[in-house]
Parts: sequence; C-alpha cells; structure tokens
Amino acid sequence: MNQKVRVRFAPSPTGPLHIGGARSALFNWLFARKHGGDFVVRIEDTDVERSTLVSEEVILADLKWLGMTWDEGIFAGGDKGPYRQSERLSLYGLYWERLLEEKKAYLCYCTEEELEAERESLREKGQMPRYLGRCRDLTPEAREKLEKEGKKPVVRFRVPPREVIQVEDLIRGRVVFESDGIGDFVIVKSDGIPTYNFAVVIDDALMEISHVIRGEEHLSNTPRQIMMYKALDLSMPQFAHISLILGEDRSKMSKRHGATSIKQYREKGYLPHALLNFLALLGWAPEGEQELFTLSELVEEFSLDRVSKSPAVFNLKKLNWMNSEYIKKESPEGITRLALPYLVGAGLIQDDPAPEQVDWLVKVVSLLQEQLDYIEEVVTLIPVFFGDQVEEFTPEALELMEEESSLRVVERFRKEALQAENWEAPVIKAIFKSIGKELGVGGKKLFQPVRVGLTGNLQGPDLQSLILLLGSQRAANRLDYTLKKLKS
Ligand code: GLU
Repeated sequence: MNQKVRVRFAPSPTGPLHIGGARSALFNWLFARKHGGDFVVRIEDTDVERSTLVSEEVILADLKWLGMTWDEGIFAGGDKGPYRQSERLSLYGLYWERLLEEKKAYLCYCTEEELEAERESLREKGQMPRYLGRCRDLTPEAREKLEKEGKKPVVRFRVPPREVIQVEDLIRGRVVFESDGIGDFVIVKSDGIPTYNFAVVIDDALMEISHVIRGEEHLSNTPRQIMMYKALDLSMPQFAHISLILGEDRSKMSKRHGATSIKQYREKGYLPHALLNFLALLGWAPEGEQELFTLSELVEEFSLDRVSKSPAVFNLKKLNWMNSEYIKKESPEGITRLALPYLVGAGLIQDDPAPEQVDWLVKVVSLLQEQLDYIEEVVTLIPVFFGDQVEEFTPEALELMEEESSLRVVERFRKEALQAENWEAPVIKAIFKSIGKELGVGGKKLFQPVRVGLTGNLQGPDLQSLILLLGSQRAANRLDYTLKKLKS
C-alpha cells in the first residue's frame, strides 16, 4: 500500500452504539493497527433532529470501553478537524457553492407535497420513485418568482445521465450502478445543512481517508458518493462494505434476537475483550480453527481478504461461551470486583463492604466463576451463600430426604457444627468421617443429605467449600430450618 492507511468510524449520534456499528468500528480499528495507519473517529450529526450529545457520549464511551482507542478525531484532536459535522458547515459551503457555480448542482424549490405526488405517480407506473428534475433548468426569472413566494430552496446534485458507476469493492468485488436509476438528489437541505451523501464525501476527502470500511447498508449510497468525488475532482478512497448481521432465523438482527446495543451487553457484565473477540468473528474468518484471540493476535491475523460477502449470523450462545471462557481466565479478585456492583444492586452486599467480607466474597466467587456466562448471573447463583433458610427444595432433593438415614445425617451434622470450635476443612472432613462411621453410611448417602439440608438441591458448588464458607453457625441454622420444614 503506497498511501498511508487512514480509516474512520463515523457514527451518527442518534442512538446507542449497536453491534453492527461496533463491528464496523472494529474492522476499521484492526485494519488501521495492522497497517500502522490512523484510526479516525468523527461524528456525523447532520440529522439535527435525531442527533443528541447524549448518544454521542454513549457511543464514544462504549468504543473506549471496548478498547478501540482512536488516534485522531473527536476529543483526540488532529489537524483535519473539526470532527463533528455540525461544526464544519462553512467548509461544506465552499464545495456546494462550487457545484452550483459549475452547474453541477442547482436550487430546487419543490415542496414536500409536490415531491410526494411525483413519487406516487412513479410508483403507480411501476417505476422507481425518484426526482424527475422539475427545477433542473429553472430560468432566473422563475427562480426569482419562487423566492418571492417565500419558498426556501434545497441544493440538488445534477446526476449525469447514462453513466455507469462502478464500485470496486474490496469485499464484494465490482458492483455496477447506473446513474439513470438515481434521481437528482439533495445535497443541502433548505436549512443549509448538508445531507449525509454530500458531507461524508467532503469529510473523507479532506481527512485523507484511504479506505472506507462500513456496513453493507451504505453500498447503495456509494454511487452517489462516487459521482460527488468526480464532480469535485477529489481523490477517492477504496471501499469495503461489510455484510449485514442476521439473527439466527436469518432475518435482519433486531431486538427480537437479543440485545442489540453494546451498552446492554456491558450492563449484563460481558467482558469487553470477549465482546471484541466475538465481533471480530462476525463476518471475518481467521485462517485456522482458533476462536479465542488476544488483541495483538487479532491485529496480526486480520485482513479484508478474509471478510465474507455473505451475511454474518449472530449467535448468542457462542458469545456466552466466549465470555465464559474469558471469565474463567480472570482472577477471582478481578471477577469479584466486577461482580460487586451487581451484588450491591441486588441488596446482597452493602456498599463499600469490609475487607473481610471482600475476602469471603472472593472465595465464593472463585467457586461460581466457572458457571458464569456473564457477570450479572452471579446474582442468581450466589444466594445459596446467603441467609439462614433454604429457599426451595427440588423434587429430587425431597426424594433423597425420604431415605431413612438422610434426616439422621442432617441432624448429626447440625449438632457437630454447633459444637465445633474451629471451622476448617480438616474439621469438616473429620465430622463427615465420624458420622459415616456411626450411622454406617458413606458416599452419596453421607454427603448429599447435607447438601440438600443446606441448599435444597442435589447440585451446586463444591460441598466442602460451601460448608466452609457458610460458617458453622449459618450451616447449623440452615440444617435446623430444613429439619423443621421436612418434619412438619
Ligand atoms: N453515519 C453513518 C452511520 O452511522 C456512517 C456512514 C459511513 O460510514 O459512511 O451509519
């Protein structure tokens, strides 16, 4: 590559950062890092009504959280700013005025009603609704008359007739469009704000963007943008359009398929790197079978050649698997730190817990860590370590307790717990041993009644650790509760 690689992510701040947007950002980011290029982030806020600073903040915070730092752009500086379109209006003015002067664009006074009537009549004839050019060749007198009537014009680009526009797409190959299918389109609205298809070209050109890597939904905009580059004689970037992301039923990914915004995954306690790894594989296939990648491995392996033309399918199970793998790799201290806000939120732990409680929590978390798909799940798994009662007995657990020796084991264990002077693993082991001997039971018949007595369940965390972490008093209280409950 001769030209310096400069890529950009250009979100419209009209909502949160979605999975698709984050994936586009990531492919740009990886491409920049791989080629030692620049990753630019700028804000496309020409849709004044729908753009908000809050959305901008959320999007940028999510990008940072995912670890995609940018070299240039909004809040990072650079010599090609400003990086928010609403602050670049005078710059755009230079270009659309030039287009007007060169008659490559013209003022159009058609009202919304007139335009709708035109579209409707084309639809009725089975033709593509588009602008047919009523204001294309207005005389100065006609224009003056319309101005006098108080009509505010838009600026329309004069689409050259009978042109074949080829997009040489790095992912999709050559895609051909015909200019005749494209009506003269608006480049500046009547309030003086440029439209996306115009502003994006000026920005990409002035910011010297070498590759435009973005979602497939923008492919149909590309011929319009190419015409603009040509009309303004600006040098054109290379284009790469990434396929859509579909839900598992192969329809376009939407809320029905699960959370679509990064914020929702962040709030559930997905780890940023897991999400990043997952996003990387949405449409890009590495050469081997490997699925878990460090950041530097992703940078090393990534290439547009291996980005697929066919749609990517969003598989939540895979994301959960990947996240659980990364959770397993973390230290219990790290996971506890991440879990704390959820535990405080659920009222299980006081805000700002004492160091001893944190130590206890770390041990508890280390027992649950393997089972977590995402951190929020800790709230449903951890209650077994809290409280003096058993919340619920499963039918299998109740069945086991009908076994003649079961209640006796529980009774004996409770008594030993109350008498124990210290509560350590060898003590607990010894208690089991002596009960087993005394009652002539072993294995499951010895351990499972205690587990059920403490949890109401046949499955759960390692029994010895559970007993230890509950403490002797709490263990005794729970067994007492179970005995009363089952005997009543
Ligand atoms: N602002 C556009 C969007 O959020 C991005 C357009 C582009 O990348 O060219 O979809």
